[in-house]
Amino acid sequence: MIVKGVYGDFKKITGRIRVEEVYGPVDLDRKRIVEEAGLKYVPLIWVPRAGGAEEGIVDAWGSKMLFAFNNSGCISNPRIRESAKNTLEDAVVKCDVDSIILDALRFPSPFDGRGMLSCFCKYCRRRIVESGINPENLRSNLLRLLEKIHLYPHLSSDLIEAFIQWVNIRQLIVKELLEELKEKAEEYDITVRIAVFPPSIAWLVGQNYAYIKDLVGEAQVMLYHKCGGPACLNTELTSLVELLLKSTGEAREKEVLRAASMLTGLCLKSWKEFKERGVDWDILVEETRRAESLLDSKFTAVYWLDKLVEERLKTMRLNKVILFVAKNC
Ligand SMILES: [Zn+2]
Repeated sequence: MIVKGVYGDFKKITGRIRVEEVYGPVDLDRKRIVEEAGLKYVPLIWVPRAGGAEEGIVDAWGSKMLFAFNNSGCISNPRIRESAKNTLEDAVVKCDVDSIILDALRFPSPFDGRGMLSCFCKYCRRRIVESGINPENLRSNLLRLLEKIHLYPHLSSDLIEAFIQWVNIRQLIVKELLEELKEKAEEYDITVRIAVFPPSIAWLVGQNYAYIKDLVGEAQVMLYHKCGGPACLNTELTSLVELLLKSTGEAREKEVLRAASMLTGLCLKSWKEFKERGVDWDILVEETRRAESLLDSKFTAVYWLDKLVEERLKTMRLNKVILFVAKNC
């Protein structure tokens, strides 16, 4: 198995593991340090970077918020789209690279709590109308759906339809921006790579592997078993169950787990201990195999390095992996 690249503190492992690439923000100093260590630097672009709170997403209750690390706005906002393209150009010109990685090209996830049920900003509303859907009906049906999700699959057809419309709009907006950024990258003859959510959650945040596979040179699937931020599988699954429990009543745990299993395609029997202990290893293996079969040659797994991962990866039979090396791992 080859460790293709590293996110985070690369010096922690390059002494004992052979690594080819290091990933990070558009930063000439960091690039120089990496190249001095004999490695290739590939810049990463945080696509939804917001200029201020006014660029936030709007949830189904009408609240505006920045998501992820409280730094991300709506990717339908023309200023954010323009800024992502400018950052891409900047990365190419400054860093003289042959590829870039797009990060967080998506909508809010369960990590963002109620922000997950978005987006109803004026730009997204316009896109919803263009798709022949009434944004107000969609918004109120989504709220009703959230209250009744424990009844799945015995839901009225308008609620199921609203859910499909919401997923479709998210995926459509992400796809269109990915196409635009790819076009921009092609002007400079560079390859677009993308960091995506694990399959169970990706489709809910707008990342459908079916179109991603066709548009990028590499899809780096974040398969983080134990960490506390967005995209960390243990945190995302826990947040999803907690969001559904809060909306439907705490006593409905069994039904909520069934609904969460339906939404993620995973068989979720537990969740409470995920935050502390991390997800069960068989869930991580299942997610890895799903991503691998959906993305074929475009697939690269990214794991959150700790002792458990380092030991278990030996049994995974993967050609190449990327490691996220946290400062305290
Ligand atoms: Zn929006």
